[in-house]
Amino acid sequence: MERYVNYINGEWVPSESGEFAKNTNPVNGEVLGEVTVSTAEDVDRAVQAAKEAQKKWALVPAPERADVLYEVAYLLKERKEHLAQILTKEMGKVIAEARGEVQEAIDMAFYMAGEGRRLFGETVPSELRDKFAMSVRVPVGIAGLITPWNFPIAIASWKSLPALVAGNAVVWKPASETPFLAAEFVKIYEEAGLPKGLVNLVFGSGSVVGNAIVEHPEIDLVSFTGSNEVGAKINGRAGELLKRTSLEMGGKNAVTVLEDADLDLAADGIVWSAFGTSGQRCTACSRVIVQESVKEALEQKVLEKMKGLKLGDGLDESVDVGPVINRSALEKIHEYVKIGKEEGAKLLAGGEIVTENGLDKGNFYQPTLFTDVKSDMRIGQEEIFGPVVSFIPVKDLDKAIEVNNSVKYGLSSSIFTADVNKVFRAMRDFDTGIVYVNAGTTGAEIHLPFGGTKGTGNGHRDSGVASLDVFTEWRSVYVDYSGKIQRAQIDNY
Ligand code: NAP
Repeated sequence: MERYVNYINGEWVPSESGEFAKNTNPVNGEVLGEVTVSTAEDVDRAVQAAKEAQKKWALVPAPERADVLYEVAYLLKERKEHLAQILTKEMGKVIAEARGEVQEAIDMAFYMAGEGRRLFGETVPSELRDKFAMSVRVPVGIAGLITPWNFPIAIASWKSLPALVAGNAVVWKPASETPFLAAEFVKIYEEAGLPKGLVNLVFGSGSVVGNAIVEHPEIDLVSFTGSNEVGAKINGRAGELLKRTSLEMGGKNAVTVLEDADLDLAADGIVWSAFGTSGQRCTACSRVIVQESVKEALEQKVLEKMKGLKLGDGLDESVDVGPVINRSALEKIHEYVKIGKEEGAKLLAGGEIVTENGLDKGNFYQPTLFTDVKSDMRIGQEEIFGPVVSFIPVKDLDKAIEVNNSVKYGLSSSIFTADVNKVFRAMRDFDTGIVYVNAGTTGAEIHLPFGGTKGTGNGHRDSGVASLDVFTEWRSVYVDYSGKIQRAQIDNY
């Protein structure tokens, strides 16, 4: 049986707790292996290692730091299939999507390696003669990373790569559901020649290891992706400790379809973004805001496409929809379906836990479509995080924008229309961090900022150059070569 342990100060070591937790395949409950269960002391050991390593790393020229990231990129590329297979076994997404996710980490590694020769600051003219003014990025110090299971390598890459290229050290707690992929990613850092102590991996529960990261006085910032419930807790505590946090949390994303849209294209976009990763993407389409005149036609097209979706083991290339992550997620989804029915929404397809074809051993939920949903129903407002989509009919674009923005989240939204004026209105008025036009709500690329407005985040972004803002401080530097003490704002006025 595979046994994974922590990686601290360049060594693979089990926690002194002596405990191990099982890692299971959501397709059939098969035990894939075990993972060490860590304590706050393990986090402290990781921090001590990180502290020493970071001091030296910060002095390494950024282009040289980036050389290690290029090696990481090549190794990720070489191991793409291996990593994708582990991803599918551990969390269930279908293999094509798993390959896509690993590709995202590869892209991020090349992109952030390129940042080693940029890390741009500003040079500005000084108001005084013989004086030079500029800003430079400096590392924050030790970054605590807490990541979810639904994009176990992509999100880890969005955080660890910018942290490292900018000169920080990392203490990473991955989700308990996806430890193996985390270890495989860290092995790549090790093989790429990253000096010891710069990436430390500590397995264990959120309440113990995650909390210890938040509480540790020598961890300077916490970058978290996960649920609002946990994010709010982290933010509260980190706020008291005056610690920097970057939070990426839930979504209640919507596709808007207007009557002039290409309905076949829209149906494809809806099915891909509602049922891909079994609806467990933070950007999953959970609502379809449809203009009344085309509601039935669009429903029919989506229902027709849903009939063709094959459920099963994501390692089978012909499967479209894998399991959801665990039993409690399955029950939560089913509970929301019951709530939807009680609220008076009309169930057009799905709505049951799958029990046929041997799938009862896994966590499978039927792709589900509700219609005639009112925006203020719970299924129209709350994150379900499963393969359930709600059609909300509206009169026109104004109403669509109002409904789109009526939720507490602000991650992703999309519009299908042929009218360029309406496209630009949506781009301006949809209150989300990401807007798609004539595409579903998913499909972000790593070189643009990723994250959301309102309850989805706290103003920071993962990926893109924006992620460097999380992992660097700005230092403003003034060099006066006049040979005299010049007084800004005074001598010239
Ligand atoms: P989660 O339950 O909040 O867990 C996320 C991470 O936080 C895990 O590593 C978890 O550890 C840890 N954690 C749990 N309790 C903690 C605590 N008290 N202190 C510190 N850390 C703690 O979320 P999830 O179920 O893994 O992921 C699904 C959620 O993530 C959804 O809401 C989804 O929308 C969101 N998400 C957002 C984005 C985005 O970019 N906006 C991207 C992906 C996912 P354990 O695994 O050990 O519990």
